[in-house]
Amino acid sequence: MLGILGGGQLGRMTALAAAKLGYRAHVFAPESPCPAGEVAWATTVAEYDDAVALQRFSDAVDAVTVEFENVPEAALRQLAQTRPTRPNAAALAAAQDRLVEKAFLADVGFETAPIHQVDSADDIVAALTTLGRPVIVKTRRFGYDGKGQVRVESPAEAEAAWAALGKAPSIAEGLIDFAREVSVIAARDVDGRVACYPAVENIHENHILRTTLAPAPDMGALAGEAERLTAAAIARLDLTGLLAIEMFVTRDGRLIANEMAPRPHNSGHWTMDFAATSQFEQLARAVMGLPLGDVAVLRPAMMRNLLGDEANTWPALLADPGVRLHLYGKREARPGRKMGHWNKAL
Ligand code: AMP
Repeated sequence: MLGILGGGQLGRMTALAAAKLGYRAHVFAPESPCPAGEVAWATTVAEYDDAVALQRFSDAVDAVTVEFENVPEAALRQLAQTRPTRPNAAALAAAQDRLVEKAFLADVGFETAPIHQVDSADDIVAALTTLGRPVIVKTRRFGYDGKGQVRVESPAEAEAAWAALGKAPSIAEGLIDFAREVSVIAARDVDGRVACYPAVENIHENHILRTTLAPAPDMGALAGEAERLTAAAIARLDLTGLLAIEMFVTRDGRLIANEMAPRPHNSGHWTMDFAATSQFEQLARAVMGLPLGDVAVLRPAMMRNLLGDEANTWPALLADPGVRLHLYGKREARPGRKMGHWNKAL
C-alpha cells in the first residue's frame, strides 16, 4: 500500500499510476471529497497534526510520499519513525522555506536571483537599494501560483506591500530579465540511481502555468546543464522520489534557479502520454523500492492546463483525436483553478 499525503490532482495521478503497478493507495488529506481520495483504495480525512490519525495511516501503508509540499515537516517526521518517507522530511523542509531553498540551490551550483531577507517594511526599502528596482517580495512559506507575492517599485509602496503579505517573514528578489522559463524533473530510486526528464519550457499567464513544451526547444548546452544540476540537487537531498526545479533562462543565456518541489510537478504532466514512463509511475516505482523506468521522450509534445470554466470544453477537446485529456474530477470550477490538462504531440 502506497501512502500519499495530500488529496489533490498530483495524488490522484500518483494513485492511478500506482494502481497500474498493482499497488493500492491510501490518501491522507484534511479535505473531503478530494481528487486523490476518489481513486484511492482508502482515505483518511484528518488534519496533518492529528498524531493518532497519522499513526493509523502509518500502520496501514508500506511507504509514504507527498503530493503537496506544504505538509508540515512534523507529520513526515512522525511517519518516518515507522515507515520510509520518500521524500525525507529534511528535503521537504528545504523546499518549504524560500530562504533555505535559495541557499540550497546556490550550494548545489545554481545561480539564483539576488535576495534580501525581509522581516519588516524597512527591509523592503533596504532591498530596493541593494537589489535595484523593482523587487519581487515573496513570503518565505506557503506561496504558490503567484500567491504570497508582491512587486514593489518604490519605497512609498513598502508599507502597503508588507501589509499585503500579512507581515509574514519574506524575501525580496531582484527582477530577473528572463527570456524563458524552464524546468527539469529528476527521479531517484532507493539505491541512489538518478534519471532526469529533459528540460521543458513553461509558459505562465497570471503566474499560473499555462503551457509546457517538451522538450524545451533550442536549449543547446543549457539543457544538459539544467539536468546535471537537478540531478546533483536530488542526490544532495538524499531524496528518494521526484524533484522538480523551475529555472529562468536569461536573455544572455544564463540559467537561474527559482524554486524546487520534492513531488510530481505540473510541468511533468506531458510524461503521462509522451514519455516512456510517466512522472507518476516513476514516483510510485521509487517510493515502493522498484527500479526507475525509462525517461525517453516518445514524441515532442505540449501540455496545456484547463483552468476554471475551460474544463467545460472537454467534449469539444475530445473531438480532436490527437488530444489526450486528463480531468481531475473537481466539482467546482473556480477561476484559475487547475481542473485538468491535455497533452498533444507537436
Ligand atoms: P514563483 O512563485 O517564485 O514560482 O514565481 C511565480 C512567477 O513569477 C515565476 O514563474 C515568474 O514568471 C515570476 N517571477 C518570480 N520571481 C521572479 C524574479 N525574481 N524575476 C522575474 N520574474 C519572477
